[in-house]
This record gives sequence, structure tokens and C-alpha cells, in this order.
Amino acid sequence: MYNSTQKIDLQKITSAWLSAMDKEDIVILIKENTEELRDCLRFHEYRYYVQTNPLISDFEYDQLYKILEKFEKENPEYTTVDSPTQRVGKGIIKDFPKTQHMVPMLSLDNSYNANDLLDFDRKAKELSGLTQIEYCVEPKFDGASISLIYENDILIRGVTRGDGEVGDEITDNVKQIKSVPLSAKFGEYGINQIEIRGEVLINKNNFKAYNEALVEEGIAPLANPRNAAAGSLRIKDTAEVSRRNLEAFLYHVSFLSTDTSTATQNLLHIKNKKEPTTHSGMLEMLWNIGFRSPKNEMRVFTGIDSVIKHVHDFEEGRDNLGYEIDGMVIKVNDLKLQDRLGMTSHHPRWAIAFKFKARQATSKLLAVEFQIGRTGAITPVAKIKPVQVGGVMVSSISIHNEEYIKDKDLMLGDTILIERSGDVIPQIVKSFAELRQGDEIKIIFPTHCTACNDALFKLEEEAVWRCINLSCSAHVAEGIIHFISKDAMDIRNFGEANVRKLYELGLLKTISDLYVLPYDKISQLDGFGEKSIGKLQQGIEDSKRQSLNRIIYALGIRFVGETTAKTLANAVEHLLQLADFSEDQLKQLDDVGIKVAKTVYDFFHNNDNLYLLQQLEELGVQFKNEKKNLTPKGKLVGQTFLFTGTLNQLKRADAEALVEKNGGKLIGTVSNKLNYLVVGDNAGSKFEKAKKIQVVHIISEEEFIKLLAF
Ligand code: AMP
Ligand code: ZN
Repeated sequence: MYNSTQKIDLQKITSAWLSAMDKEDIVILIKENTEELRDCLRFHEYRYYVQTNPLISDFEYDQLYKILEKFEKENPEYTTVDSPTQRVGKGIIKDFPKTQHMVPMLSLDNSYNANDLLDFDRKAKELSGLTQIEYCVEPKFDGASISLIYENDILIRGVTRGDGEVGDEITDNVKQIKSVPLSAKFGEYGINQIEIRGEVLINKNNFKAYNEALVEEGIAPLANPRNAAAGSLRIKDTAEVSRRNLEAFLYHVSFLSTDTSTATQNLLHIKNKKEPTTHSGMLEMLWNIGFRSPKNEMRVFTGIDSVIKHVHDFEEGRDNLGYEIDGMVIKVNDLKLQDRLGMTSHHPRWAIAFKFKARQATSKLLAVEFQIGRTGAITPVAKIKPVQVGGVMVSSISIHNEEYIKDKDLMLGDTILIERSGDVIPQIVKSFAELRQGDEIKIIFPTHCTACNDALFKLEEEAVWRCINLSCSAHVAEGIIHFISKDAMDIRNFGEANVRKLYELGLLKTISDLYVLPYDKISQLDGFGEKSIGKLQQGIEDSKRQSLNRIIYALGIRFVGETTAKTLANAVEHLLQLADFSEDQLKQLDDVGIKVAKTVYDFFHNNDNLYLLQQLEELGVQFKNEKKNLTPKGKLVGQTFLFTGTLNQLKRADAEALVEKNGGKLIGTVSNKLNYLVVGDNAGSKFEKAKKIQVVHIISEEEFIKLLAF
């Protein structure tokens, strides 16, 4: 869409704007050239999202974007509806009104082999009386279809497919798809109204990352990018939609009307731009005015034989694409001929989908194994009758959590449907309850850890069960890594890789082994010289005298961060006294809520953990609270503090140290146990919450400093 001269010009303009940024008269500059700045941003969006070949860094783009955004905010009269800033979400959408499509969105007839395609070609020839037909072939994108309407060059509506006749209006969500232009120069082709169809996708990388994040939170991942795209379009929070990084290919013009005024016609005559007469021409036009159409992916062929060869070749390369496709679409290229062929009540006669081999298969659910992950979380894994799915033999599939098993209604012995999307791990789509014989068995979730046999725990709002035994072989290595980390016991000269190495060699099996390492054996390993062993020994020795709060933090009790660890340490004279606290007593402590009270209580009532603590103490780790007997002194005794936002004069850590030095206490959340919330710049939810609680004094950084001075 941009020729090389324009490209060079726009690059020059970009540099000029970037270097003008700090100048005082920037506002005047923008006032006089707002549209130039916008064009510049549009150009870079196009390079990034449509051509996927950016010319400037994300940082530079953000800087330019911010100056435009700030200017428009201060001078709203200069804002336009198609400004790049107008994608930004309007917050929460209430509902998606129903909208009638200008032309119904039909499905496509399907074909699975060469014969089906020969049939399709034969019928088209019969109906048209032609002996050869020209076809345009493009990928069948596996996403969610949308319809866009532009009027007088501006995007005015985005709609889901719905039932084909009526869909949901999702304009604000569509604006979050950065490859969809907010305005496009249809006018240059004499078009004043147009309806375009396309497919919204999540590319494989983003889909993978999104699923990994879900799994991390203990939530079951989505089976395929198609579901993920469709689901994302219906989210009511536009900021969240934006985070999903949706993409769109626009592949069809379903309706257009032209401006017949003489002025426009004369202009077109001069510009020599005509409304395209072929489908491939339409795709070119869309590409030329800034859309991501499959212009580079499409191929035009005369005769069906070369089409058949092409679709098979394309299937071979399917895994090399960045996004999922489930077939190819073959379309009669001549638009007039398309009209003549018309459509049945379900699908057009001028197009057909060629479906690739399914990446779904059926199999049998034979057994479920329960594996323990790195944080002690239990993951059920389905063992299935081995089956080929999309070229890969699958015999076991993660089924995530108890909820998932219920949702999918899975029983041992069930016939199940499996899907594997691209490089994504296989998933169970569903079970066929109607095929049950009566001898299927309910899946029973274990109540005890399969590795150490300790009882499992689950918090109400969480999806996963966990083993909380710190010495459990299934997750002890991760626990040791946390134990030695900088903010915990701070054992220097060790590090994650060494822990794993020693763990795998059987030289380090539990946290307490750290204090009886077999240095003679370790010294024979690569990477452990005399000097480094000496340092390691020193580091381990020093850690025995770490403060109690660090020890508590190092134990890695769920939800016990550094602040809570301090609170717990301050409540006792010796670590093991925490085992005498009831959940209710724990809840009395500052900063300890129901969740923390429960995990702390459970931790100190697990015999394996108590045994580990006893061993650590015998090996010389200090469990006494050295500070406890000193009665706190200072101006802030008895007062609790919490900081939020960015402070200007003090560093956050220094401010917190000042509180403690003056006898005050820090707590981690806003509650009625909080006396002072110190608010810096850009304070967020803590500030909002504190405003609702009367007992909290909300003070500024200056006021905080004054508190210390008087
Ligand atoms: P089906 O849902 O299997 O009947 O296939 C029809 C759907 O394929 C359409 O509604 C579109 O959402 C989708 N599709 C994906 N890529 C294309 C393409 N290049 N041309 C037409 N339709 C496509
Ligand atoms: Zn265990």
C-alpha cells in the first residue's frame, strides 16, 4: 500500500517526530500537523501488523503514540474517529446488540479429495457452459468469522457470524485487532459503502502462551485457537480483548455500493482506479488500501487439475504457517460468473472448501494417572488407547484438574474425541456418553499424594489439589531452589542449576541435606573447584543465622510473601510456636486473612514438615526470634503502614525500612488493621479500597516524612 518513495518519506517524518518530542513547541507542531502524525502511526501499524515487518522499535512506536494520545486528550476537538488512539478500549461493554448482515453469511460446501473437486468443477462448467474456469485458491483460516462495514472510508461496524443472518455487533472488540484499519481509502475506487468478510485468529505462538498462562493458574487450557478466537471476540472488557493479540485475514467482499456522482467518476478517471472484477482483484484492492488480505497466500489457476495439485502441496506445508488453517477454499475468480452460478440455500455454488485431514480422532480412555508438578500441584493425566492425530501418535493427555473431568464428563472406559491443533498439545474435546456400555468407571481423585502419601490440600477458590509436604520427592527440588534464593536464605554461590544437578545425582534430597552436603563427592564434579566449594560452604554456614522472617519466607508456604513472613516471625519467640496457633489466632495477626491462616495452619500440622523443621534446628539453623524480646521503640510503635504508587523522594524499600526502624509495622493489604496508607503517584486499587475504610489514614509521602520528624 505504500510505495518506496512514500516509505522513505514516512520514515523521515517518523525521525523528525521522534526528535521533536522533547521540544517545547511540540504542541503547536502537532496542532498544525495532526493528520501527519496519525498517518505516521498508521504506517507503522501497517508495517507491524499487516506486513509483519516493522521499521521502528516498539518503544519508538509507543513514544509517538503517547504524544498523540496526550495531545488529543488535551485538545479533544482535534481527535478523529479513525485516529490510532481510538482503538483503545472504552472499558466494559454492556452487551452486544443483534445486527442483521447486509448479505447472509453462508457456509461452504466441503470436499475431501480430488474426486470431490472434479465434481465441483464439472458442475460449474455445466452451469456456465464454459470449458475452462479460472479459480482463486486461498487458505481456509481456522478462526472465527466476522463481517466489517465501512462507510465513506470509516469502519462503522464489526459483527460476528451469529446464525448467518443476524450476528452480534462487536465493533469495539474488532477495533482491538490491530491489522483491521479504522479507515481505508475505498473512495479511491469509487466505493462509498462496503461489507467485508474475514476470519479472526490467534496465532500459534500467542495461543500457546495464552494456554500456558491458563495452566499456570490451574485453569484448563482451550482446545484450539478457533475456540480461543471466538471466545475472545465476545469478551466484554476491551482491554482484555486487546491483550489476546487477535489477528484478522479479510478474504471476501460481500456487498459494495459505488458513488455515482460525476465528481467522483471524474476523479476515478484521472486516478485510473476501477472497482475490481475478479475475486483476486478484490484481494489485491483490500491489500492495497491497508487490509491484511490473503494476497500473498492466494494463487490463481486455470483449470481444476493444477488446483488439485496445489491444495495437496499446501497441506504438506501446513505446519510451517504461524497460524492454523483447516483446509483451502477454491473460489471461481470471475465475479460476474460467481453471480451467474448463484447459491443454494446453504452455500454458494462458486466456492468450495477442501478440508485437510482431520486433527481429531477417537480413542478410549483407559486410565488416569496423577502426577505431581513443581509446586506440588496434582495433575491428572489420561492414558488413552494410542491413536494417530495429525501425524502424531498420542497415548497420554493432561486433563488438568477435577473441574475439567467433571465438565467433560469423563469416565474410565469412555470413547473420547481428541484434537491436536498444530504444535499445541493434544486435548480431549469430549466424551461420547451415548456410547457407554454401563461398565465405565467413575474417576476418583486421590485424597493423598501419590509420591509421599501425605494428605492433599485444595483452597476453595483454586482448581488444583496440592501436596504441601516440603520433603516430598515429587517437588522437593523446586522447594530447595526457593529456600536458597536471594530474598529467602540467600545462600550464595549455589544457584538453580547446581541444585538440580545435585538433586538428580541423589546428593541433595531434602532441604535439610543442604546442611550436610557430601563435599568430598561434590568436589569431584565439573564446575566445583576448591574455591567455589569454600564459598558455598561459607554461604550455607552464614544462612544458619538468617533472621526468622527470612526462614519463614524460605519455607515457601503458599501465600506467605516477605511481608506476611515478617508478621508471623514477629508473633513468636521461636518458629515452632507457630504450630500452636489455631486458624482463628492466626487471623488475629495483621495482614493474615482466611487464606493465609489456612495455609499456615496446614503447613504446621503436616508431620513431615514438622520433622524437617526439627532436623534443620538440630543442624544448627537458628529458629529463635532474636528481635522479639526487644520492646519496639520509636515514633511509630503500634502503627501499621502500607505504601502504594510511586514515591518521589524516598525509595520504596527505604521508606519501609524507616517504618520498621521507628517501631512501626508493615502490612501487605488494605484492611481495617491498617492505620496508614502512604499514597504515591499513580496509586491503584489499594488507594480505592482504602477510601472505603474509615479507620485508614490516607497520607502523602510528604505527610509520611513529617510523621517521622515530629
Ligand atoms: P464451514 O464453517 O466449514 O462451513 O466453512 C465456512 C467458513 O470458513 C466460513 O464461514 C468462513 O468463516 C471460513 N473461512 C476461512 N477461510 C476462508 C476463506 N479464505 N474464504 C471463505 N471462507 C473462509
Ligand atoms: Zn507428596
